[in-house]
Amino acid sequence: MKPAPFDYVRARSVGQAASTLADAAGDGKILAGGQSLLPVLALRMARPRVLVDINRIAGLATVHPTDGMVRMGALVRHSQLAEQREHPLLAEAARWIGHTAIRSRGTLGGSLAHADPAAELPTVAAALDATVHITGPSGSRTTTATEFLVGALETTLADDEVITAIDLPLPTRWGFAELSRRHGDFGLVTVVAAEVDGHRRIAIGGVGSVPLRPAEAEHLLNEDAPLARVAAAAGAVAAPSGDLHAPAAYRQAMTEEFTRRALAAMSTNSTA
Ligand SMILES: Cc1cc2nc3c(=O)[nH]c(=O)nc-3n(C[C@H](O)[C@H](O)[C@H](O)COP(=O)(O)OP(=O)(O)OC[C@H]3O[C@@H](n4cnc5c(N)ncnc54)[C@H](O)[C@@H]3O)c2cc1C
Repeated sequence: MKPAPFDYVRARSVGQAASTLADAAGDGKILAGGQSLLPVLALRMARPRVLVDINRIAGLATVHPTDGMVRMGALVRHSQLAEQREHPLLAEAARWIGHTAIRSRGTLGGSLAHADPAAELPTVAAALDATVHITGPSGSRTTTATEFLVGALETTLADDEVITAIDLPLPTRWGFAELSRRHGDFGLVTVVAAEVDGHRRIAIGGVGSVPLRPAEAEHLLNEDAPLARVAAAAGAVAAPSGDLHAPAAYRQAMTEEFTRRALAAMSTNSTA
């Protein structure tokens, strides 16, 4: 199938993108890498009247390290994330996304806005309590990734708002572990462990409608409990549903196992 007809606007500034979306009154969509949006349009699961292309807006694809964190522009491509050296955890996570063609177009802002529960980058953002910078027609705001991601394919983004950048704290130690059936598939379970400002966190993707932050497991981890106990506590909060790729019980068991692996990796990955 082909997309339904739409008007195409190539925005030259974030302000122009936001005001064009506002004029579309809920019937407009931002086009970034197109790797999630275009399949949706082609299947006619969405029929926006206007597509606002943000790819030519200057300054949205920068990687800017500052004290203890890295500010990534919304248009930073997955391939750029995979290659940069400023944020090694993000580089590792981006390498697991899809295939070369997808990584060369897909963007960090698009991945967060799309909010697929199995996507790698929102799971990293949740683990790090990343800050999302958003601009709308009446001004700018910031929010945390955890507040931003409210459900499967659901965020707090208004119809006329644009993600401009994401601040990602730089962990001193980190671990990433993902189970997928083939390289490039979405993860059945993705676990990120990270230490920021001396506090260790865990985020789990693919086993709930948003990346999970298992409070009891994080508490045990920060109390230096045995890794097996931490992993068991993380597995206990997973609420996976079964599908043709894996039954729920298998995903549950793998949450525990891949938490154990992410924690083990944390003892070797260090940016200190
Ligand atoms: C075959 C295939 C395999 C894939 N495998 C994986 C995978 O393993 N892991 C993974 O995480 N992803 C995977 N993806 C998805 C890919 O990562 C997408 O690039 C990403 O989900 C969306 O980014 P995008 O820039 O392409 O956004 P688009 O497709 O352009 O947009 C997606 C949505 O976000 C909105 N949007 C985009 N940018 C902004 C912004 N700056 N502000 C506000 N709203 C915005 C759009 O309006 C749209 O609603 C795969 C895609 C394909 C086609």
